[in-house]
Amino acid sequence: MQKLQGIPVSPGIAIGEAMVMDNEGFRIPRRFVARDAVDEELDRLAKAIAAASAEIASHRDAIAQELGEKYAAIFDAHLQMLQDARLRSELEEMIRHRHYSPEYAVSRTLRHYSQVFQRLDSAHLAERAADIFDIEKRLLRHLLGHRREGIAHLTSPVLVLAHNLTPSETANLDRHFVLGFVTEIGGPSSHTAIVAEALEIPAIVGTGPFLADVSGGELVIIDGDKGFVILQPDEETLAHYRHKVEANLSAAVLLEALRDLPATTADGVQISLYGNIEFPYEVTHCVNRGAEGIGLYRTEFLYLGSEIEPTEEVHYQAYSQVLQAMGDKPVIIRTFDLGADKVPHLPQPEDERNPCLGLRSIRLALRHLPMFRTQLRAILRASVLGNLQIMFPLITTLLELRQAKMVLADVMEDLDEHGIDFNRDLPIGMMVEVPAAVIMIDRFVEEVDFLSIGTNDLIQYTLAVDRSNKDVVGLYNPADPAVLRLIAMAIDAAKKKPVPITMCGQMSGNPNYTMLLLGLGLRQFSVAPAALPEIKNICRRVTLADCKEVTNRVATMENARDITNYLREELKRRVPGFGNA
Ligand code: PEP
Ligand code: MG
Repeated sequence: MQKLQGIPVSPGIAIGEAMVMDNEGFRIPRRFVARDAVDEELDRLAKAIAAASAEIASHRDAIAQELGEKYAAIFDAHLQMLQDARLRSELEEMIRHRHYSPEYAVSRTLRHYSQVFQRLDSAHLAERAADIFDIEKRLLRHLLGHRREGIAHLTSPVLVLAHNLTPSETANLDRHFVLGFVTEIGGPSSHTAIVAEALEIPAIVGTGPFLADVSGGELVIIDGDKGFVILQPDEETLAHYRHKVEANLSAAVLLEALRDLPATTADGVQISLYGNIEFPYEVTHCVNRGAEGIGLYRTEFLYLGSEIEPTEEVHYQAYSQVLQAMGDKPVIIRTFDLGADKVPHLPQPEDERNPCLGLRSIRLALRHLPMFRTQLRAILRASVLGNLQIMFPLITTLLELRQAKMVLADVMEDLDEHGIDFNRDLPIGMMVEVPAAVIMIDRFVEEVDFLSIGTNDLIQYTLAVDRSNKDVVGLYNPADPAVLRLIAMAIDAAKKKPVPITMCGQMSGNPNYTMLLLGLGLRQFSVAPAALPEIKNICRRVTLADCKEVTNRVATMENARDITNYLREELKRRVPGFGNA
């Protein structure tokens, strides 16, 4: 048994067979081969080495001709490594005596070699690790050949274990068969994590390297509550987790009873709870858990889930589905927030070194006007079907907001000219997720109908921490006093105007912050559907007086760690039995 710690990003327990994906997103087959297949497998290895060598030799010759022998030497080094007798005999030994599959033997051996290079204290040698990695990939490509398959065609339930999953790969996961996933890289608020919540499957990111230790078909447990991945669990651990699955089911049933009760605090303050969605099907999850509206529809997943840009009709159908399911309840449709880690099949800006600071979100929309206008037309057409509100993401300057509104007004005019019906009084809001927007919030409130705080990005930009990078995860903290001050400023400005303000970042669905946010004056939360019952449970069990006390105390603290510890303790103290409904 082996237990790894990662960052839990979607709760729950999953127990099942592993499906291992290599770095390029292809399945790595099982670890073992049948005893009588050993000769065949050795032959497969020999052929793969020969094919990979021929490929490298031909690249070598092409480069020698174009750039000269000096540059071709890089390939000579690769060829030498690939044909090294020691490597060959190690691989053969693993297949012949341990009955490892050639793919597994290649991965394991070459990863071990590359770790040796990485451990040596030399930048130059560490770079050689990349060469070894390259050889591993090349050999695997030849070994897997036409058997390379993505994760799109599954036929039985699996736990996906991968180096990385992009938001589009996650968006395409088959939700009927994927029971949970783990990635070696990724941070707590990455969009991959957000999709896991949408799929309502346990997920863990940022475990660090472990794929070399696991093989397809092995039994794995994902503990999405604590962030543990357990490989080849023993009987006792398995029994413990099976029991937990049962207990979670009972807790969920208890929380379900809250569905039709209001989210009113114990002293009678009305709180509104909305749901965040990425896909139209999630609207059912929201309705089933008593959401009072959709506070954030991340429409960019329409682009990420498809090979081609969605047409106006595709947009329209998706929005209609959501609006019809929600009846007269508000539905906030956010215009596409592409870029950074959410990259569709658009031409990529060359050499984008800081994608989070680059052409993303509303900036991208304002540069790709035909694409933006297509979406706006669909949103406007759908606006007559229900209580639709539109929201622009990542607004940083007033000029940007005005430009976005101008494009919207222009599309409205266009629809008018063609006699197409839409809601002229459609409420227009903006996300507050850049510190600059908070600093100028008194001006912004004059020009919008509502605000929504996107803490995922607000934290990233305030603390200068990439939200999807596991190496700086310790620095990414919603409880940082600087972040809390910005949140307080936004809420205060919204109240003063007044315009409605929601929070739709992950922070609003984290029970540790509910009391603090209520104390800061937040009255509207938009959270992943699965988090709705728990947040409602807390709202109903605390008084505003309690919450204000908590907020005042937090205001005296200077660092995120103290605040986090304090909030955790307060939640336990003021909501005894928290988690048991
Ligand atoms: C946010 O930044 O908090 C947010 C809700 O938007 P996204 O996570 O899609 O960037
Ligand atoms: Mg955001």
